[in-house]
Amino acid sequence: MTNELMVLPPHIEAKTARAVRIKGAGIYADWPGTGPGGETCGSCKHCWRGYRNRYRKCRLVELLWTNGKASDIKARSAACSKWEKV
Ligand code: SF4
Repeated sequence: MTNELMVLPPHIEAKTARAVRIKGAGIYADWPGTGPGGETCGSCKHCWRGYRNRYRKCRLVELLWTNGKASDIKARSAACSKWEKV
C-alpha cells in the first residue's frame, strides 16, 4: 500500500469542501459573515436560483443539496469566505 495522496480536480474539491448547516436557514460553504462586507449570498456567483428565483442554493455544497428547503440559503445572508463576484 502506498502513501500517495489522491489529488482531485478543482471542481470536485470545491463541491466536497466543508459546509455549514444552519438549522432552518440552509447549507452554506462557510459561515455567513466571513466574507467581504456588504456582500450577500444573492450577489455571489455560486448562488443558484431555481424555479423563478424562488429557491436559492449554494453550488459549492451541491453534493449536500436536498430536494427541499433544508438546503435552501437566504439571498440576504451575509457573504461567506467563499464569496465570488458574479
Ligand atoms: S456567499 Fe456564495 S459561496 Fe458563500 S454560501 Fe453564499 S452562495 Fe455559497
